[in-house]
Amino acid sequence: MVTTVGRRRIGVDVDGVLADHVTALIPRVLDKYGVELRWEEANQWRLPLGDSDIGVEFVEAMVDLEWVAGIPVYQDAAEAVGELASVAEVVIITARPPVAAEATQAWLHRHQVPYDQFMCGPELDRNRQDLAMLVDDYVGNIYEFVAHTAGIGVLLDRPWNRDDREDLGTVGGTGRFYVVQSLREVVGLL
Ligand SMILES: [Mg+2]
Repeated sequence: MVTTVGRRRIGVDVDGVLADHVTALIPRVLDKYGVELRWEEANQWRLPLGDSDIGVEFVEAMVDLEWVAGIPVYQDAAEAVGELASVAEVVIITARPPVAAEATQAWLHRHQVPYDQFMCGPELDRNRQDLAMLVDDYVGNIYEFVAHTAGIGVLLDRPWNRDDREDLGTVGGTGRFYVVQSLREVVGLL
């Protein structure tokens, strides 16, 4: 009998990992609220902006497909995901609304980010996708993944995820959670 061992599936988030959505939001909040936001100042998930906050603004902006198309890519994204794709199955997994799915896939192609599967939507369950690893910039997603799967959670260090990390080290035990400074480091964890 011939057995084929499937390649490991690696979940990769989009915003804050591949897409620099914070940079894209800067002119938008200047326009709307007259607030001059700087990238490194985005150090909270609900950073107040005028009468709003950064989380609300992202949700609103994600249905503006012209804005979605113009989000800059993080410099190392294509190369790093290319390396991952050579050794694993890359599953792009994002909470962006389904209305942005096509624009997001076009964006990935345009920036030459390879992937095997694309999943999109605020309701999708990252813990039921048979992922050996999840790369994300949101502590909550990594925490849930480590707590409810046998996979490894990898948090990409960003100014907005430096708080609330304490519990991550203990939730799954040794070797279940890593913080990386760049996507390039993820390949080394496989
Ligand atoms: Mg994200």
